[in-house]
Amino acid sequence: MDYQSIIEEVYQEVQQENQRGKVANYIPELAHVNPDQFGIALVDLQGNVFAVGDSQIPFSIQSISKVHTLTMVFPKFDPQLWSRVNVEPSGNPFNSIAQLEYEKGIPRNPFINAGALVIADALCSKYDHPTEQILEFINEIAGKNSVSINSAVKNSEKNHGERNTALAYFLKSYKNFDNPVDQVLEVYFSHCAMEMTCEDLARSFSFLANDGYSIFGERKILSESHARRINALMLTCGFYDEAGEFAYRVGLPGKSGVGGGVAAVMPHKFSIAVWCPELNEKGNSVKAIRALELLTDKLSFSLF
Ligand code: GLU
Repeated sequence: MDYQSIIEEVYQEVQQENQRGKVANYIPELAHVNPDQFGIALVDLQGNVFAVGDSQIPFSIQSISKVHTLTMVFPKFDPQLWSRVNVEPSGNPFNSIAQLEYEKGIPRNPFINAGALVIADALCSKYDHPTEQILEFINEIAGKNSVSINSAVKNSEKNHGERNTALAYFLKSYKNFDNPVDQVLEVYFSHCAMEMTCEDLARSFSFLANDGYSIFGERKILSESHARRINALMLTCGFYDEAGEFAYRVGLPGKSGVGGGVAAVMPHKFSIAVWCPELNEKGNSVKAIRALELLTDKLSFSLF
């Protein structure tokens, strides 16, 4: 398969169409990002990298990091974790508080903010230095030093973190939170503020295309069954309240972030990361989603 020519074609077409959106501004520091950046990197299961555009520029991975933290927590807490967080699409905005009340303090899934806060809490219970260990883990599965925390983004989110702070206290009021709120929020804001390039992000997702085995870390990261379940969660819950649309148009398990990145996998074939900062009204990158739609059309395969 000539992945390089295909992603170059996709890149050109998306640039020609030039569909636009809006850079996230509810985290003020993210609003300063140049909106014209656009990159794609695809990594096959032999470790070959195919890349085009701004694939070597680090960007804020935001909620994509929720896949990494879930991966660290899942094997240590399965199955008890699933009494603290559900596995259903939310159909609601990612930072919804109302839904958490209807569901009596059990978030709909681990990728909305409330669910990711429960995962961060579980991480704090099992790891002595959670933030450092998240960075180490990602470097391991990407096979190189690939990730750093942008402290300006982290502080910006922290200074405007009223909603996430409210969610954390709300979880605590339902006894679904074991550690001090400030400690868990510190870990959560740190992992959301991580920066990676498209290439390194795609490398870090490779194990999910490979039944849980990381060719870069040279070890089994998750069992096949756990890897399948994370992919199922990405497919059904990875795109906020637009997960159905992504499954319909693209047909791959993936996760987006408000920094404009999307990481996705084609099981047994490749992992891919696409980034362009301008978002649609649901908080997903306009060009990244269009690029992945064109990609699976051109490849004539997806999960389906
Ligand atoms: N750090 C962001 C927040 O908590 C993550 C949003 C996202 O990428 O979905 O609001």
